[in-house]
Amino acid sequence: PTAVATPLPVLGRDVTVPLVTGGEVAYAALDYAASAPALQRVWDDVAAYAPYYGSVHRGAGYLSQLSTDLFENARGTVAGFLGCRDDDQVVFTRSTTDSLNLLAGALPAGCRVFVFETEHHASLLPWRDADVTCLDAPRTPAEAVETLERALAAREPYGPALVCVTGASNVTGELWPVRELAAAAHAHGARIVLDAAQLAPHHPVSVADLDVDWVAFSGHKLYAPFGSGVLAGRADWLREAEPYLAGGGASRSVTRRADGSVDVRWHENAARHEAGSPNVIGAYAIASACKALTEAGFDTLVAREEYLIGKVREGLAEVPEVRVLSLFGDDAPRVGVLSFVVEGWNSSHFAAALSAEYGIGVRDGLFCAHPLLRTLLGSDPQTQGECGAPEAAPGEKSLNAVRVSFGAGTPDEHVERFVGAVR
Ligand code: PMP
Repeated sequence: PTAVATPLPVLGRDVTVPLVTGGEVAYAALDYAASAPALQRVWDDVAAYAPYYGSVHRGAGYLSQLSTDLFENARGTVAGFLGCRDDDQVVFTRSTTDSLNLLAGALPAGCRVFVFETEHHASLLPWRDADVTCLDAPRTPAEAVETLERALAAREPYGPALVCVTGASNVTGELWPVRELAAAAHAHGARIVLDAAQLAPHHPVSVADLDVDWVAFSGHKLYAPFGSGVLAGRADWLREAEPYLAGGGASRSVTRRADGSVDVRWHENAARHEAGSPNVIGAYAIASACKALTEAGFDTLVAREEYLIGKVREGLAEVPEVRVLSLFGDDAPRVGVLSFVVEGWNSSHFAAALSAEYGIGVRDGLFCAHPLLRTLLGSDPQTQGECGAPEAAPGEKSLNAVRVSFGAGTPDEHVERFVGAVR
């Protein structure tokens, strides 16, 4: 691979960490899939705004008006970033998990849900009040489409139905055939929501081009801070649903009836699901990140990431004990996310050694995708806690994996150090 472009400035570049072997080294954050470091630009934008904020949608004061403008403009920026249709709604949430739970609460009565077992638990679990069909892990993108089509056809006729699919796996980094899955869903009268938590930070996502009905993502994986996320898409199910939270901001008018009961008329726009004082800074930070990524250009970002992926793949291929995990084959296109196991190593110990001896931060465990790990590892992961790292003696078969992930802020040196450390 040839070097392309330079990394975008992110926070935390100057952090140094002690090594067990003595001395200190600059921290190499290679855990972008969990939370990406915020862009310096996002930090600067937030710092410029922070002294001036007031509560949104409430006050006549200047700062309150300013906050309201920034909050509502952020909605517009996100809609542009996601290529939303004119009548789509952009709801600010706390995270992808929050967005998908919101949508789960907005399903029409009797809705069927189709979801692959390979999903992150945030996409797999929120539908538990619906009639859920969990689909087998496919071994090629084409098989994913066939599996979905077969499942949809086998259960016809049905009323409302929703397919939930991830755009890029948080475990293998592999890209899923979203456009084709959306076409299959629509051909059978179902709707589709895209979990873009891992896709949106790495690739352009267009709701209209992909023809998905909703998209969800998290700010903290898109180079903004924790605590804010987005659900964007079709207004109808959202407008007809009970508000996600009941309270001020979501209600248009509230009256006490003569019989002592309370009558509420809820907003029909995004505010319906944003009760309470919203996270204005979070929304503003997401919008700032969307602008920064758009200005850097996804062509450049994708090219740079592919160059880094190439370096990691080449390096790992030289170590015979390393097995890279994949559903669609080692050469399948992926974002900068890659999981592997090392023969003779417990993955938790391996990740701990990368940290203690090389100052490299990666993730180990089951990545909140237990059924997928079970398929990929061919073993039964014994979990400890929700995303836990199970214990296994050194030399035993791996029950978990190591994940390395990177993105727009990653310098070459971080992946070079990683490859050298694994070697
Ligand atoms: N979906 C995918 C594919 C993810 O990788 C994650 C985070 N690991 C989530 C959903 C959940 O994101 P959050 O924790 O920000 O809600």
